Amino acid sequence: MNHDDLRDWSKRAADWTQDYHATLRSRPVRAQTLPGATRAALPAAAPESPEPMEAIWADFERLIPPAMTHWQHPRFFAYFPANAAPASMLASQLANAIAAQGMLWQTAPAATELEQAMVGWLRAALGLPDRFGGTIHDSATTATLSAVLTMRERALDWAGVQQGLSEAPRLRLYASAETHSSVDKAARIAGIGQENLVKVPTDSTLSMKPGALAGAIAADRAAGYLPIGVVICAGGTSVGAFDRAADVVAVAKAAGLPTHVDAAWAGSAMICPEFRDLWAGVEGADSIVFNPHKWLGAQFDCSVQFIAEPRHQIRTLGLRPTYLETPGQDEIVNFNEWTVPLGRSFRALKLWFLLRAQGLEDLRGRIRNHVAWSRALCERLRAMPGVEIVTEPSLSLFSFALAEGDAATEALLARINDDGRVYLTQTRHRGRYAIRVQVGSFDCTEADVMTVAEVVQELRA
Ligand code: PLP
Repeated sequence: MNHDDLRDWSKRAADWTQDYHATLRSRPVRAQTLPGATRAALPAAAPESPEPMEAIWADFERLIPPAMTHWQHPRFFAYFPANAAPASMLASQLANAIAAQGMLWQTAPAATELEQAMVGWLRAALGLPDRFGGTIHDSATTATLSAVLTMRERALDWAGVQQGLSEAPRLRLYASAETHSSVDKAARIAGIGQENLVKVPTDSTLSMKPGALAGAIAADRAAGYLPIGVVICAGGTSVGAFDRAADVVAVAKAAGLPTHVDAAWAGSAMICPEFRDLWAGVEGADSIVFNPHKWLGAQFDCSVQFIAEPRHQIRTLGLRPTYLETPGQDEIVNFNEWTVPLGRSFRALKLWFLLRAQGLEDLRGRIRNHVAWSRALCERLRAMPGVEIVTEPSLSLFSFALAEGDAATEALLARINDDGRVYLTQTRHRGRYAIRVQVGSFDCTEADVMTVAEVVQELRA
């Protein structure tokens, strides 16, 4: 394929994209394929000679879409969304066309400076103070890992990156059990270890108990451990739990510890001022991650980390060998020094197009609708005999179960997802198996959301 061919095929891809999105409602949301089926349809090795594009395209249409779960489907209510607003998809196509690698300012000046600008736009949109800098990662997992590595090095006065951890005291990190498993992963990768991630007890509202946190830190210090920081949950994945950030930050600060807030999902909702009480106090945190690629509409992947004092993270993650120097530009921002990978794709373009083409008021309207429709759906399910609400709506996420017990609820979920009109996933809350419902698909309507009630009504017997 040459660049002339690329132009022709790109036009065809644009038409295909339109058809795909226009027909999403007629497709089952979750892939209805069996494990191994796609692989079995593929040759065992790459071809030695070029194949005609027509054949490749035909195989794509035949094999790929039917075996995909459709994340942009308006009735995708599983996990959390990975919304791709049309403007952000267009920006992705342009970023792909330029195909730059933005590791240094010099390798992509516009990408670096657009990233700085977009972090500023989003900081203001979320109502955060100007003093936060920030960067864009691929994922919240990487952002949290970066924050935890920085906590570790601050506690060790950067001895860890120089000497390793073999002489270090036993490190302790704190979070509630409602925080996402990316915090566990960060503890494992950062050499802290799963056993040293202290799961602080929560109260009846699923918020970390500040007194228990203070007690755990004091007890660990007395036992000779080295506490390094606290991760605050702002919208947990299981059922949408929130820690009271102000209280946790106060305890952490009194103990001399930094804090990182995981708002990967719920952060997008903070463009609506009326939801900000849920994370009141985050302005005192050292680091906050949220994923515009979830609820906001920036095509996956795009995860923003706000950082109060970036110099600590740069000292932890940044390396500048001669081949990465920019002669005469020592003070320039090179975002690879803020993140784990060296290479970086041009993610800021998706945010720029998204925020301009939609405008914040449109995005707020969508999120407000999702929250309202989720609450309305919750009430419809509550009114159904035999259905019990397990957790009340937290923003647009709630969970329910059948009164008959876990096995019946699990069987209902399997029937719902085999049916294909909607897609829901499960969690376990206080030992009980529950079906999660999150409303957040960019193009969903109230009728799409109410389809969940129709499907449950029909299939629960
Ligand atoms: N934190 C929360 C609250 C999440 O819900 C998720 C994923 O759903 C993550 C972190 C991890 O996000 P990512 O896939 O960007 O690593």
